[in-house]
Amino acid sequence: MSFSTLVKDELCRVELQHDACCMKAEVLGVILTGNLFSNDKNSRNVRMVTENAAFARRIYSTIRKVYGISPEVAIRRSSKLKKHVSYSVILASMQLINKILYDFGISAFSEESSNRFTKHLKRVCCKKSFLRAAFLSGGSISDPEKTYHLEISTRNNVCAQVIKELLADYGINVKIITRKGIFVAYIKEGENIVDFLNIIGAHSALMELENVRILKDMRNSVNRIVNCETANLEKTVNASVRQVDNIRLIQSVMGIDKLPENLVEIANLRLEYGEASLKELGDMLHPRLGKSGVNHRLRKLDEIADQLRDNMKRISVK
Ligand SMILES: [Zn+2]
Repeated sequence: MSFSTLVKDELCRVELQHDACCMKAEVLGVILTGNLFSNDKNSRNVRMVTENAAFARRIYSTIRKVYGISPEVAIRRSSKLKKHVSYSVILASMQLINKILYDFGISAFSEESSNRFTKHLKRVCCKKSFLRAAFLSGGSISDPEKTYHLEISTRNNVCAQVIKELLADYGINVKIITRKGIFVAYIKEGENIVDFLNIIGAHSALMELENVRILKDMRNSVNRIVNCETANLEKTVNASVRQVDNIRLIQSVMGIDKLPENLVEIANLRLEYGEASLKELGDMLHPRLGKSGVNHRLRKLDEIADQLRDNMKRISVK
């Protein structure tokens, strides 16, 4: 089952806070995201298509309760995959459609959209019902394991704007793009998607998404730590290889025992323990020495080796 289906199944079980006002807000959300504003002038009907039987039942009974109208219901099975079923709840006659639209002040099949319908979205309960219905009818959400993306599409540009504005009040960042005349309001940030699911009442889906987010975050920070440690290790190994080379040079050209007393011990230790960290080397010294002290002595050895190389170059030039 896709994450979208999971969220929608849960939303269909959410009960409305106040039947009287919220039912209308729900019908409004469904109608504005249905195909009412289709460019196809021949299809003068409102068709709400869903793969979710519970949602089809819910729209049907809500429209019947509020307007006393029984929409038609069509069930279609795709011929290839018998399991794939889609339900259409259809308002077939203009008379029925107008009865509902008149209530919301929306003009059907018009290029122009008005925002008169927002007067039905004043109460918090109704805003939530509207957003839930719009998502149920025109929305989808990606599997959070793959990516964070939630969208609601509508042919009504005012509807897309209203969704954006309603969610801005909750601090949710919505962007709108147009795809072939369809307005798509979408949310990208994981945190914003969690907030949206909370508003529309998909609480179990929200918990599941939070779990995925926590796991993802953990995986990322573990990777960051591993990468960082690998980089540090590489740096340490490179430095150690250079130090060993330099000490070998000193050994062959002048002999380690000709070095100042404080450098003899560290030079011998480094030769013996090529992979030891600065701290480990410091612990082996008598008396013990801190990391920066060890680093200082090793750098002195680097300088001496560099000087020896310079001298050797000068001699060979002569
Ligand atoms: Zn309400």
